[in-house]
Amino acid sequence: DLLVVGSANADLVIGVERRPGPGETVLGSDLAVHPGGKGANQAVAAARLGARTALLARVGDDGHGRLLLDSQRAAGVDTVGVLTGGAPTGVALITVDPSGDNSIVVSPGANARLTPADVRAAKVLLASARVVSAQLEIPLETVAEVVRSLADGSRFVLNPSPPAALPAEVLAACDPLVVNEHEARVILGGSAGDAPEEWAAGLLALGPRSVVITLGAEGALVADGGSAARVSSVKVAAVDTTGAGDAFTAALAWRLGRGEDLWTAAAFAVRVGAAAVMKEGAQASFPTFEETQAL
Ligand code: ADP
Repeated sequence: DLLVVGSANADLVIGVERRPGPGETVLGSDLAVHPGGKGANQAVAAARLGARTALLARVGDDGHGRLLLDSQRAAGVDTVGVLTGGAPTGVALITVDPSGDNSIVVSPGANARLTPADVRAAKVLLASARVVSAQLEIPLETVAEVVRSLADGSRFVLNPSPPAALPAEVLAACDPLVVNEHEARVILGGSAGDAPEEWAAGLLALGPRSVVITLGAEGALVADGGSAARVSSVKVAAVDTTGAGDAFTAALAWRLGRGEDLWTAAAFAVRVGAAAVMKEGAQASFPTFEETQAL
């Protein structure tokens, strides 16, 4: 049902008392290694909900690549589209200080080698997807090739993260463009305004068929050419918001592929996002369908 095209990273996390300055060494906690990357996260989130999900991504021929493949398979994701080699697996080097603030260095590695030719070679996966979801941790030209390769009647969902200027061809295919507050502000530049309703109008003017803005604990704002409306989230005790946006987008894309309208799909997705903030971690925090219904 759902094809996710995107990144797969190993998240290498070390807790520190404080960050080292230039030329300095500090000692940290034991290393924790977690599967991550927005593409890998979205695929796991959808599969855990019960969606038939495939991932088109590239990892290195190394231990981190095998960790990522294992986590996808354990969640039930079809990994025939996970290509291997060309560069080391993408890595995020993350230090976390006692106040919970992160400093992150990302090495895209194999993610930067997922090419338009890889997309063309994945014809069968694209042909069988009702909905295709992408992000921007892979080359923009690869995302553009995805848009050109969409099967008739299949829907395209884009989370432009990290935010970048998007070609008109890509924007026109987005139904919806899914952004959080930060991404909305960067894409709109100085002219953003302060209200999410203004951001939605500004983003719609760029050409996507619809827009969804996630608003953390406030839920989301959904807008298409005809109307805009808020979808409120569920009140939960937030423990760790890592991956909430990925879980939200995966859930939204899946439900849209099943034929739900944008508002109904977003009402489901905010519950999935809320469930994902109740536990530590990204992939480890993603809920099943039953857990989502129980909220
Ligand atoms: P991102 O993780 O990309 O910054 P948001 O913070 O907007 O995105 O979160 C995505 C979704 O996760 C929200 O739309 C909402 O459904 C859910 N969510 C995030 N934080 C909370 C929270 N504190 N309480 C309830 N739901 C939340």
